[in-house]
Order: sequence, then C-alpha cells, then structure tokens
Amino acid sequence: MSSRNENEKGTHVSRRENRAKRVNAMEMWEKGVLDERPVKERWSREFKNPRLKRLKNPVNDFSEECTVEGLVQEVHRRTFEVRLSTGETVSAIYRATVVDELGEFPAVGDSVVLGVTLAGEYSLVKVKPRRSELKRPGPRDRIREELTLAANIDQVILVASVEQPSFSYGFADRFLLAANWNHLPLVMVLNKIDLVAEIPNEILDFVKLVDGFIPFSCKTGEGLDALKRITAGKVSVFSGKSGVGKSSLINLLVPSAELRTGYVRDKDGKGRHTTTSSSLLDLPGGGMVIDTPGIRALGILDLDRHELARSFPGFFEDDLFTCKYGDCLHISEPGCAVLRAVENGKISRPRYESYLRILNAKD
Ligand code: GDP
Ligand code: ZN
Repeated sequence: MSSRNENEKGTHVSRRENRAKRVNAMEMWEKGVLDERPVKERWSREFKNPRLKRLKNPVNDFSEECTVEGLVQEVHRRTFEVRLSTGETVSAIYRATVVDELGEFPAVGDSVVLGVTLAGEYSLVKVKPRRSELKRPGPRDRIREELTLAANIDQVILVASVEQPSFSYGFADRFLLAANWNHLPLVMVLNKIDLVAEIPNEILDFVKLVDGFIPFSCKTGEGLDALKRITAGKVSVFSGKSGVGKSSLINLLVPSAELRTGYVRDKDGKGRHTTTSSSLLDLPGGGMVIDTPGIRALGILDLDRHELARSFPGFFEDDLFTCKYGDCLHISEPGCAVLRAVENGKISRPRYESYLRILNAKD
C-alpha cells in the first residue's frame, strides 16, 4: 500500500512541474519564439535553460477555413511529416497549445488537422481521438507519463531472428509487455530460420505467449504469404532489434519502401542502427506498416519494480492485488498469489519467467 501512495504522490508532483514547463513553452510560442532544444531535453527532469530562437512567422495568422486533414507519417524533433488527403506529403510544425492539450506530441498514425499560415507553413491544429495506441510507460517516477510510439493501430509485429543476432529475451519480453499493456495483439515473426535446422525450445516457450507466430526467412521466402495474410487491410507496427532483418522483411512486404539494409557485425553479432525514426508505409494490397526504430523505442528500463509486480499483464484480474504483502515482488514471499497461480498452472511458467527476466534486468 505504502509504495502505491508514494508513487501517486511522486507522479502528481512531477506532473505539476511538467505542466509548468509546458505552459512555459506555450507562452514562448505565443511570443513567437521557439525552444530549439531537442524534445527529449525539453521534457527531461533536469531543467535546463531553453535555447530560444525567434520565429520568422509567428503563428496564429491562419483562419479556420484554411485547414487541411492528414495522417502523420513521420515524427521528427521539430517537425512532422503529414500525408494530406490529397496524397501530397507536407512538413508541419508543432503548436504548443495543441501539444499541451494532448499532453504529448502527435505520433505516427495520428489523424491530424493542420492550419496553413499565410506564409504557407503548416502547423498542428488538432489531433483526432485515437482508436488505439502503442505506448510505453514513462520513466521511473512518472510511469503514467507515457510516450506514444504509434497511434490507430491494429496489431504489433515483433521481428526477431533465430540466429545472427540470437533471440533476445530482453527485447521480446518488453515488447510483449508493451503490447499486453496496450491491449494489442502481438505477432512474432522469427526470421532467418534458414540458418537453423530446428527452432530452439526456449523460443517455442516464448511463442506460447504471443497471439500469432510466423517462422520466416527473407532468404528463402518462407512465411511471406502468411505475413501478407496477417497484415492485409490492417495497420501493423513492426519493431525489432537491429540486425534481425526487419528492413529486408519490410522490403519484401512493401517493395516500394526500398529501406536500406545493414550489415551484421561479425564480432558481437549485433547490427548497426539503420533506422532513426518511425515511418508509415502503404501495403500494396491495402493496410499499412509502421516501421519503428530498434531497441531503444521500447526499453521500459526505468519502470519501478513494485509497479511492474503490481501491473504485469495476466497476473491479477481487474488489477486486484491479492498477495499477502503489498510490496510482494512474487519471488519467494509467503502468501504470494502469483507463485500460487504458477504452481497450479493458472499463470504459465513462460509468462512468469518473462516477468522475472524483466524484473531482474533492472535495479
Ligand atoms: P535490420 O537491421 O533488422 O533492418 O536488418 P537488415 O534487413 O538490414 O538485415 C540484416 C542482415 O541480415 C543483412 O545482412 C541481411 O542480408 C541479413 N538477413 C536478413 N534476412 C535474412 C534471412 O532470412 N536469412 C539470412 N541468413 N540472413 C538474413
Ligand atoms: Zn506476490
């Protein structure tokens, strides 16, 4: 009980601080200046002085009639790309008042209304309500201040490889957690199966936790038909550690994408980073693919251990914490409802092991 109060209190205080910062940003915007720091820095806990830049064309010089609608295709630090209903893609700037109202920046997949200024600049007027989103929790004391990685999606697709690089539980567990958290189905595509004779049992254990599984090879084309079927007419978010073959795979699915494919470094088997921001691509037969950058996008590294123990998907029905001790981490505590559920098979061992891996990866 005590840890929950502390958390809520902590979140409350930092929210207020954050709001003060946002209001500050709004005032600056209205004065026609822009904070030039990268978004990450602007929103960081350590308050640093803003780097101000005077805008050439202060906003609000557009009329209501002068608005257009579109779909957010790519998000950058100071601008974002929007595909208008006319098919044209334009670059737009954020408006602090709208960002403040939304509580965050627009995400890839968002449906937005843009205003066109007299100078011909596009700026954010409104983000339409989302039907779904893929969010990751905020940092340690601000778990509720989530970051949206993609909006209006149907499913998330984890691309992993069986070898080169070998299967990463660290990434897979976190990805599963994020999908569960957002009530989105997770499909795992296991690439490079041409490199092994059999899929290792540990990976098959993980497969028990996902909603769909496609053994795949970009080399032989195995699994491509299944992947086409599962993505047809839907909006799918693709993510994977770099080097697993995500770009090669998306190129097979969306030939016009022509994503750059990288090389796997021989020494440690880790890949280079080839993608830097999320982007949205059209599938030839209808539906869309949102390609997200590698591992950093989903690292729930700062999550508080007790919050994790309390909210791990599938552990407690209706968020009803039933362990004897409020600070139970479900390791060996007496009266632990999770351990009991694992014993009698209500919680699967792979899921419990996935929990332990995430729990132990931090501190
Ligand atoms: P990304 O970093 O996940 O986008 O990975 P890339 O698409 O750049 O691929 C990384 C490396 O893996 C490249 O050298 C690819 O040729 C190789 N690769 C991709 N798919 C397969 C596959 O199915 N089998 C094998 N053997 N290699 C593959
Ligand atoms: Zn417990």
